[in-house]
Amino acid sequence: MIPIVYHPRYNITAFGLERYHPFDGRKYRRIHDALIRHGLRRPGDFVRPRKATRDDLRCVHSEDYLRSLRRPDVLGTILEVPIIRRLPAWVVRWRILRPMRYATGGTILACRLALKHGLAINLGGGYHHAASDRGGGFCVYSDAAIAARRLHDEENMTRVLVVDLDAHQGNGTAAVFRGWKWAFIYDLYEDGIFPARKEPEDYPQPVGPGLTGPEYLDLVRETLPDALDAVQPDLVVYNAGSDPYGRDPLAHFRLTAGDLAERDLLVVTEVRERAIPLAMLLSGGYSAESWRIHADAIEGILTRFDGPP
Ligand SMILES: [Zn+2]
Repeated sequence: MIPIVYHPRYNITAFGLERYHPFDGRKYRRIHDALIRHGLRRPGDFVRPRKATRDDLRCVHSEDYLRSLRRPDVLGTILEVPIIRRLPAWVVRWRILRPMRYATGGTILACRLALKHGLAINLGGGYHHAASDRGGGFCVYSDAAIAARRLHDEENMTRVLVVDLDAHQGNGTAAVFRGWKWAFIYDLYEDGIFPARKEPEDYPQPVGPGLTGPEYLDLVRETLPDALDAVQPDLVVYNAGSDPYGRDPLAHFRLTAGDLAERDLLVVTEVRERAIPLAMLLSGGYSAESWRIHADAIEGILTRFDGPP
């Protein structure tokens, strides 16, 4: 059975914060519940991560940056919710930073489990706009880079490839990876949207708005195998953002829920056919249907890749 990493503390509920940002802070629980409802997992089947430790965070982030997160004004800017500036610091720490630390711990655990079992899914994480000394676009901790650094140092993982199919460029991950010769990024993103300043990447696929599902899937089919074969990574971290969805308010692709399920299955299949371990993260997705899109896509992956019970 494919390990699925989840902690109830992933969910962000902060006094109606969700009214100020098109982000569903409870989507993690909704996906978890859907997998149980559909008979794919029992409650005890999920693997609970620990919170990312201070040492985990420090292996990518500067001390100054981590200290700055105690300030509600800094966090309000990163999360694009100005009202956070008016919340007491302890509320911000407890209701917003703590969930993100758990999800970062989840990404580290999912990567470890992927190396052991071949495939693992974290029902959270994918904060790809966070770099060493700055956050942005709702991303505080650079979880994929933290996990890559940990495994590179501890588990003999020599090359990592992040496959980033969130609609936005993974500028934070890319900025961290530029300093690491062993870390690579393939990134298909919409060019004209956030972030304004794009980072250089190993395998960038910038595209214009309005891409349809078939066009998008063809592009992945044509370009991803070359990146996998060129890098030959020991681990792929897949940033499976659901914001290429046609009704997402923060991007302009025209994919259907079915296209996104096909995309996730395509990526997992391409990677696993090469016997490369893969850890999947959720990343962005800002439509009300985001949780359902992820749940359906994960259901497709489990149906094909779960072993016999
Ligand atoms: Zn995004």
